[in-house]
Amino acid sequence: MMDGIPVRENLFDTIDGGRLLANRCGACGRIYFPKAPFCFDCLGKNMEEVILSRRGRLYAYTIGRMASTHFKPPYAVGLIDLPEGVRIFAPLMWAEDESYKIGMEMEVFIDKLWKDDDKQVMGYKFKPV
Ligand SMILES: [Zn+2]
Repeated sequence: MMDGIPVRENLFDTIDGGRLLANRCGACGRIYFPKAPFCFDCLGKNMEEVILSRRGRLYAYTIGRMASTHFKPPYAVGLIDLPEGVRIFAPLMWAEDESYKIGMEMEVFIDKLWKDDDKQVMGYKFKPV
């Protein structure tokens, strides 16, 4: 059960602490997250839903030190490589000692992102395992 509205429909669910929903081209096998309406590689239209692995490896990260539209500094964002061959851009759980290391194992979780008027917007983030 989610106590807010998802930042975007059909992007994730809350089973097992959060799962990212992707799709795969039935013709060439390429996986897309967020889901693509058709395959940008081979133009195949036979797309099937894939649930991505909850764990991956940190490919890169940075610490934001200036305010953005929705995030107060400091905040962390990163790129996570999942076993399916997909690289995900996501907010990272804030760690006071900024203990992120390239290549470390990360796990997705569902968390509050920001408030839109009085509605809590929910989305996915990654944290060290
Ligand atoms: Zn394809």
